[in-house]
Amino acid sequence: MLAEESLLEVCAIEQHSLDEYESEMPRWCKGCGDHGVLAALQRVLRKNNLEPENVVSVSGIGCSSRLPHYLNTYGFHGIHGRALPISTGVRLARPELPVITIMGDGDCFSIGGNHWLHAIRYNINAVVLVLDNEVYALTKMQASPTTPDGTKTNTTPHGTYLQPLNPLSAVMGMTNVSFLAQTATWLPAHLDETIEKAWNHHGLSFVRILQRCPVFMPKAFGEGGLNFPVVFLENEDGIPVHPLLRKRGETQAHDHRDINEAQRVAVSVDPAPMGLIYQNRDLPTYEDIRWQRKDRPDRATFLERLDAAVDRYTVT
Ligand code: SF4
Repeated sequence: MLAEESLLEVCAIEQHSLDEYESEMPRWCKGCGDHGVLAALQRVLRKNNLEPENVVSVSGIGCSSRLPHYLNTYGFHGIHGRALPISTGVRLARPELPVITIMGDGDCFSIGGNHWLHAIRYNINAVVLVLDNEVYALTKMQASPTTPDGTKTNTTPHGTYLQPLNPLSAVMGMTNVSFLAQTATWLPAHLDETIEKAWNHHGLSFVRILQRCPVFMPKAFGEGGLNFPVVFLENEDGIPVHPLLRKRGETQAHDHRDINEAQRVAVSVDPAPMGLIYQNRDLPTYEDIRWQRKDRPDRATFLERLDAAVDRYTVT
């Protein structure tokens, strides 16, 4: 058993309020989908009654990566594309601390693409949220890997030439995939349920969140979800579909434990699948594997050996 379980027991002593998870006023634009993700995360932290200082949020660079500034937890605003290696380091060094990783589409799928694929395979125990607005927005509209074909941006003034990347099928093609879900910022009840489900999964919970960006991509996702075809994946052990959501799209029975069925769903884009696409509860996490190593030295011995190794490179 990792120390994280005993930490959660300690945290159950006192009920925290929502404002204990709030920090400075967000600087995102009016109507930006990032506001909804922040609020959903705060609600999930309160529901699970976690000590704010015992949660770590890690991000890369981009509009959505400002989220750790606005969430009252221990925060690490990292460098572009490198949020996942930082999260892996935190999980290995302090496995008792829950980690939330927040990235954007350019951050995760392009600059951090290498780290993304290997983090799926490592299966660290962390919630990984990618807020996908289909563009680099912080730097004022350059094409990202998920920008729709033909979109005019500052780097593609005549329109993008390539078909967009499908992150869902990419994840389902990786070894050791543990949890994959998709939701959207204009479906707040579904967003809450999805993050809650991801939070309660032991392993890397990868969630793609389709995110409104009314400033640079007002037409994306059928004008911010108004005319965007979706299908809700339904399973009694999946992400609940609120009765009001049924007006927004059809539902489809789906067995998220069946990898072949999940791979079929992951390649479909029209309508976009919403819900839990795949879950495997039986995979060991990378922390489990590393901490159970029988030849692992105790912390003091480890630090002593690390010092000795670093001293070998001392310049005198
Ligand atoms: S530019 Fe787009 S993604 Fe960035 S804060 Fe504004 S609405 Fe949000």
